[in-house]
Amino acid sequence: MGRAVLIHYAEIGLKGGNRPQFVRRLADRLRQGLDNAGVSGKVGVHGARLLARLEKDDQLERAIEVLTRVPGVANAAPALVVETTEDLAGVKEAAIEVLARAPEGSFKIETRRGDKAFPLTSIQISQAVGGACAASSERPVDVHNPGVTVRVEVTKTGTFVSAGARPGPGGLPVGSTTKLLAFLSGGLDSPVAAWKMIRRGARVTAVHFHNRTFQGNAVLEKIEDLCASLAWAAGSMPLLVVPFEGCQRAIVGAVPASHRMIVYRRAMFRIGARLAAAEHALGYVTGDSLGQVASQTAENIRTIHAAANLPVYAPLVGSDKVEITELARRIGTFDISIRPHDDCCTYMVATRPAVKSTLEEVTAIEDGIDWDELVEQAVAGVDRLTVNPDPASL
Ligand code: ATP
Ligand code: MG
Repeated sequence: MGRAVLIHYAEIGLKGGNRPQFVRRLADRLRQGLDNAGVSGKVGVHGARLLARLEKDDQLERAIEVLTRVPGVANAAPALVVETTEDLAGVKEAAIEVLARAPEGSFKIETRRGDKAFPLTSIQISQAVGGACAASSERPVDVHNPGVTVRVEVTKTGTFVSAGARPGPGGLPVGSTTKLLAFLSGGLDSPVAAWKMIRRGARVTAVHFHNRTFQGNAVLEKIEDLCASLAWAAGSMPLLVVPFEGCQRAIVGAVPASHRMIVYRRAMFRIGARLAAAEHALGYVTGDSLGQVASQTAENIRTIHAAANLPVYAPLVGSDKVEITELARRIGTFDISIRPHDDCCTYMVATRPAVKSTLEEVTAIEDGIDWDELVEQAVAGVDRLTVNPDPASL
């Protein structure tokens, strides 16, 4: 009998012929997660599920904590692995042990048979195992509304007995879809937006535009901490810190205060085009949420996003602040995001900014700005780091 974590995947199940490739990628991501957390173990594929066998019993909780942050995981449960014999001796013993560790109350056994060659049906297995459990404890059986459900999954390579599965993020393993640049401002929204695209299987490079003369180092520390937190889902996070003071100075010189925020954000996409090419990224991720602030009216989103040479993914565009805040708490970025910081976008902007810009008006305002030179300078000054998750933060 061995101590392990049983992992069920989510959407990968729908992938048809490509499924083995997705499952292998998920297995790699799970290994990377355990590695990042300093948990020693081996991950294997067993039919439609994965199993992480741990070397040390006392790392079980840590393993589940980490594995439930990996995109592609529907849920993860502590499990015992036993041989499948026709008398079900090992399975019964495991179910009794799993139940003994579960909270008080009624129970039921739920069996799934991945190995259809096994001579007993799922119902026969549940009845036999349930009978053994009932005989060895005071717990009542309740098949309709059980306090604890013990899952028995029979596969060709062994039987898994588990209870107390915890939900993972769902989605697809990182590397399944595309590469994107995620613009991280240090606020509440942008890390949640980045996380949502990581959950869609994207490899994400974070980009932060930083005004050295106006913002201190606190914001950089904050951005790195946000990346370290996202890295539990992403595996690791490349981070580009882009010097933005040159652009901002030029914009303050050429653009009326009412339109500066719009032009700052357009400048980010102008620089982004060069970064995306270098990173082989196919789009940008922003934390825009329709109507949330002046720069996020439909008119201004149109003017701002029109400066992008690639699609802009704004996965929070239809979410409200309460939902975003809840998600930020769930994924662990909330406490970092609420730390105070100087925001480069508030540098010399109007207290009553334009909310209904047009593209014509903004391109006319930008006419005198030498973008080539400014973009060149910014790109030349980019600092590229790789941020890994912090095992001490678990
Ligand atoms: P957030 O909560 O993410 O800071 P916000 O509601 O404050 O967003 P804005 O400041 O208008 O909104 O920024 C909108 C989006 O633009 C951000 O979500 C982010 O993707 C991007 N952005 C803004 N400032 C920066 C920056 N300094 N570096 C990188 N991206 C930025
Ligand atoms: Mg902001």
